[in-house]
Amino acid sequence: MMNGSCLCGAIRYAISTPVAELRACYCRSCQKLSGGGGTVNAMLPSASFRITQGTPKRYTTVADSGRTLHRYFCGDCAAPIYSQREVNPEMVSVRAGGFDNAPEMKIGMHIWTKSARSWSKIGSHIDPDAKQHPGQPDAPTRA
Ligand SMILES: [Zn+2]
Ligand SMILES: [Zn+2]
Repeated sequence: MMNGSCLCGAIRYAISTPVAELRACYCRSCQKLSGGGGTVNAMLPSASFRITQGTPKRYTTVADSGRTLHRYFCGDCAAPIYSQREVNPEMVSVRAGGFDNAPEMKIGMHIWTKSARSWSKIGSHIDPDAKQHPGQPDAPTRA
């Protein structure tokens, strides 16, 4: 069992499945929402992710992949919590920076590397042994 929260602590959540591998996304949406080079996420079955305190706000956009994506965040501190595809609600993508007691994890795949900023390019901090994809991988990977 792993827990996490937003910055102010109003939203709390629990994850009931082991997380060993993370996915980094460098799409323009993730850059804009994070205010940084992108996001780092755990791809989890929705059944293993549960909000235990508070109610996140929802912002819905069409992602760079062309899919409708619901993004959930704290309405008080604006921290991103997780996102969910409209066509694939069985999976959630949880922002790894919110984890409280994260055990050993590594980034196994980097996606949307073609839109990575010049200051977050491959070779500066991307592990060359990790999988890389210039856009959206064809099928969702399971955690
Ligand atoms: Zn908050
Ligand atoms: Zn992204």
